[in-house]
Amino acid sequence: MRLRTLAAILVSVLLSLHALAQSPELSKTVKEFVRVGTPKVVLTHVRVIDGTGAPAVDDQNVVIEAGKITAIQKGADVPAADGNTVLDLRGYTVMPGIVGMHNHLFYIVRPNLNSQRKYEQPVLVPQMTFSAPRLYLAGGVTTMRTTGSVETYADLNLKHEIDAGHLPGPHIDVTGPYLEGAQSYFIQLPHLNSPDEARQLVDYWADRGVTSFKAYMNITRAELKAAIDAAHKRGIKVTGHLCSVTYKEAVELGIDDLEHGFFVNTQLDPGKKPDVCSDSAGEYTLAHMEPGSPEAKDLIDTLVKHHVAITSTLPVFEGDGGSGRPPLRQQALDAMTPEARQDFFYLRERPASRPAPKIDPAMLFKRDMELERAFVTAGGLLIAGPDPTGAGDVLPGFGDQREIELLVEAGFSPVEAIKISTLNGATYLGRQTQIGSIAAGKNADLVVVKGDPSKQIADVENVEIVFKDGVGYDSHKLLDSVRGRYGQY
Ligand SMILES: [Zn+2]
Repeated sequence: MRLRTLAAILVSVLLSLHALAQSPELSKTVKEFVRVGTPKVVLTHVRVIDGTGAPAVDDQNVVIEAGKITAIQKGADVPAADGNTVLDLRGYTVMPGIVGMHNHLFYIVRPNLNSQRKYEQPVLVPQMTFSAPRLYLAGGVTTMRTTGSVETYADLNLKHEIDAGHLPGPHIDVTGPYLEGAQSYFIQLPHLNSPDEARQLVDYWADRGVTSFKAYMNITRAELKAAIDAAHKRGIKVTGHLCSVTYKEAVELGIDDLEHGFFVNTQLDPGKKPDVCSDSAGEYTLAHMEPGSPEAKDLIDTLVKHHVAITSTLPVFEGDGGSGRPPLRQQALDAMTPEARQDFFYLRERPASRPAPKIDPAMLFKRDMELERAFVTAGGLLIAGPDPTGAGDVLPGFGDQREIELLVEAGFSPVEAIKISTLNGATYLGRQTQIGSIAAGKNADLVVVKGDPSKQIADVENVEIVFKDGVGYDSHKLLDSVRGRYGQY
């Protein structure tokens, strides 16, 4: 009797392992974007940037079987056999799929925005459940964190539909609804009124499959502490775009990650009251925290000692950084609705009627880059994402590529910038043995780009094929499918 039960268990375990090893049957919708769909694929004569920060290696063969990378060998011609795909990739580079760590599935609408940057309330956050996942995958993002959700059920269902092979898109770490205090910028956010409510929110959404949380600008220390403790009890990490709570306070409360580089730390802001967001919202602190100063050293030491990651989101600040920034990309403009494109151009200009900012945004942009570099030099885990909200001229996918370029502008080498955007994110997610770099045994989540990003970082924009679990998706076809849609749905 015992033995028979054991045998039955063994058979069912073997059956489920077998099911796991097979990728799901792809729907007709998803198949439309598949360029390489055979179980075995050999990328021949390709340059490899492996995502560990190691130098690029020219002329390699990368072998993919049943969704995994099985070998990386010296470049050689391989005869195409039955059921295999062999791609000659001379002149191309393969890098790990991007692990986007501040990648929303929504867009921000300012009702009746005009050329003077006037708009009406309430500011809204419509879901981009159709266009965003396609733009991410087209841009080379194979894993992403939503970093704050508005329609959490939609995000959870989307993740399920993508994993089941019904819809195209990256692997998703769904973040719960924003943990926000009594007031907020967006009308759709929940408002916490006590630590108990914070705990309830975490428990409710963790029970429904949410795998991360994000605290927002007006949360109190007590609410944040309650949320962190409830999340940690379930092995779930918490990040924050903070203001009412300073970086050092959040570290003491046990936070795992802080969003927006060093832009939103309020510890030196004049008139900062405990548990209340300051008027400056962190700009003053950034302007007064010179790299190498005792304050900067102390903050960075504290972050590193407590293993708190920092998420670099340079693209969302770039639009403030000076005229001509960011460079216009026709493909990104083509992805938007005419209305979104008009808002994009309105927000790009600083109208004459608007007073010049008190602190030079170009200086702040450079200062943040210096602090991000100092953080990495001190041993900190820097991860990356674009914060694609429409506000900073930032779109899904395109923004992820721009983040890599801006990390290079910050002084990281191209292969270091790629590591920050791939392996570091995987490490934060605890998935570094499966994704984030190119090595035998890892998931075949890969991006094939034309050119050589190790020499010219802008080549990360030339995405041709994006492999997710060994299936190669056509980047151009995905982009074509959302032309004129971003901003609508
Ligand atoms: Zn954000």
